[in-house]
Amino acid sequence: MAAPAGKKILIVEDEKDILDLVKLYLEKEGYRTATATTGVEGLKLAKTEHPDLVILDLMLTGIDGLEVCKRIRADPQTALLPVIMLTAKAEESDVVVGLELGADDYITKPFSPKALTARVKALLRRLERKPDDAPRLSYGALAMDLTRHEVTVDGHDIPLTAKEFGLLEHLLRHPGRVLTRDVLLNAVWGYDYYGTTRTVDVHVRRLKQKIPLLDDAIVSVKSLGYKLKDAGPSS
Ligand code: CA
Repeated sequence: MAAPAGKKILIVEDEKDILDLVKLYLEKEGYRTATATTGVEGLKLAKTEHPDLVILDLMLTGIDGLEVCKRIRADPQTALLPVIMLTAKAEESDVVVGLELGADDYITKPFSPKALTARVKALLRRLERKPDDAPRLSYGALAMDLTRHEVTVDGHDIPLTAKEFGLLEHLLRHPGRVLTRDVLLNAVWGYDYYGTTRTVDVHVRRLKQKIPLLDDAIVSVKSLGYKLKDAGPSS
């Protein structure tokens, strides 16, 4: 299993030994890497290096990994960047917080090269974006036809407003991702929309009312926004 050609991984870790080790493992698998030793530098490189994924140590001096993760998710430019947290065994309660703040996965130190690269590969595959020109999206019994602007559940038409449709489309294109209210607002209503993030909550609620299967599928992520649960291998 070769690494997807040219994928770039940003590694943020303040312990030089671990940083070098992770870099070595990933480069051996064919990934390109960029490295940072502080959270501030990591945030900067997350924008300038255009990485495909970030490996983020939890315990950093200055701003820690949790804060870095939160800022990555809050910035529209990096909001969809996959993040794997690196943690020590003793920090496992922080992992829960990390996942709530939008990390996609975590690896506990010490780790084997195989475990590390397997997690990276799995996450990149799982989060592969649906192409923008895909004419149809689906989620279990729900089907969205973008050409005809139609949504059906088990073949029955569900009338949606333009914004509800846009919101659902954005969620379906990014299953498993934490999407902040700001990111959703910008994606669906546009940057110059003169409204509040409350608008997003109202529309999510309406989507759930109109499409009951979304009631469990769209989960609210504490203080951040929403996530559409992964639908599983069948979709
Ligand atoms: Ca550290």
